[in-house]
Amino acid sequence: MFPEFLESPTYQLARQQYERITGLLDLPQSERERTLWPRRAIVVSVPVRMDNGATRIFPGYRVQHHLSVGPTKGGLRYHPDVTLGEVAALAMWMSWKCALCGLPYGGAKGGVACDPTQLSRSELERLTRRYTQEMIPFIGPHVDVMAPDLGTDEQTMAWMMDTYSMHVGHPVPQIVTGKPVNLGGSACRREATGLGVAYLVNRTAESLGLSGRPLRIAIQGFGKVGAAAAVQLHRFGAKIIAVSDVHGGVFRQGGLDPAAVADFVQRGHRLVDFPDADRITNDELLTLDCDVLIPAAIERQITEHNVRRLRCRILAEAANGPTTAEADAILREQTDIHVIPDILCNAGGVIVSYFEWVQDLQSFFWSEAEVRDRLYRQLEAAHHQVQQYRKKTGFYIRDAALALGITRIIEAKKLRGLFP
Ligand code: GLU
Repeated sequence: MFPEFLESPTYQLARQQYERITGLLDLPQSERERTLWPRRAIVVSVPVRMDNGATRIFPGYRVQHHLSVGPTKGGLRYHPDVTLGEVAALAMWMSWKCALCGLPYGGAKGGVACDPTQLSRSELERLTRRYTQEMIPFIGPHVDVMAPDLGTDEQTMAWMMDTYSMHVGHPVPQIVTGKPVNLGGSACRREATGLGVAYLVNRTAESLGLSGRPLRIAIQGFGKVGAAAAVQLHRFGAKIIAVSDVHGGVFRQGGLDPAAVADFVQRGHRLVDFPDADRITNDELLTLDCDVLIPAAIERQITEHNVRRLRCRILAEAANGPTTAEADAILREQTDIHVIPDILCNAGGVIVSYFEWVQDLQSFFWSEAEVRDRLYRQLEAAHHQVQQYRKKTGFYIRDAALALGITRIIEAKKLRGLFP
């Protein structure tokens, strides 16, 4: 059975992965189904008064995958291609990610199908407030906690926190994570995903004996995650040879200064116009000769069409679901490319979100050094467990990471009974 309303290429990818793992683990059908379907899939209309006086209706979604061990957790994305199926897939990945990293959350994801680059700040504010209002019956600090994702940021979270707080009558910072620090946000949350990616890239390069000379790194996507990973890796001595955004990329053999690129983009220039670098397409970036390739944009970028042309030693999946099932089947056999699977590679974001939530619940805040230290310890533990499990089972690394996450959820469901 396959509910048609979830039908989408990204949902199919998440489902194929899930079926592969439950097959490898030889789980009974009844257990497979219970953990596959989302607990709730919510669709709302978000009417917005536009600046020109017209009213537009945007479709809004939230999928809460399971509520077996704590609230659901996951980002909210604003992107024209958002669908319920995509959001459902991303919610499943959040579940496996949280379970793998030992966070007391189920997975969730939300989205509004809109192009945030075409909306004014006040239109975005009205859209965010109305979406939050529509979600109020379904969210809460112990029910579902949102965070930024593609197309949303700290300001989006501030509007959500304010809308929810006005509804209950007092400030509730723990309703969202990824807020501005002076509204109860955590130190390091903004760069947390990038810090985690950089940590795991270095850790993996070390284990492959690649740390003798500067790593040559290509990054697809220069948003919140890609840019932060680039800055951190550059600080560690790596050469960032190429970066890109939706319009294309820039390449410099001798290495780019990512802080200078970020500053250039922030001043309103197009990334592809960055001076003293060669323009390249996204496809060229993905197939560059490099030590580390970091897809940090959207889903399904490494496909059966380009996977055989990859020339990296490490594929660090900073985006969620950047590799299709067909491409992954090829990577699985190709032992010279070492994959850091998405649910581990980009987990730094939700790990620091968890720290933010804990700090908000206690109204007791930690220093930047404490947050970084705890982040690295939590990532190291997850990385270590994946390596151990891989050795024990002989599974491919993505399968090992997914199997660890999935079995923990199935176990929790069995212990509780049928309700969650
Ligand atoms: N959107 C991020 C992710 O995909 C972070 C989610 C969160 O912090 O809750 O992992």
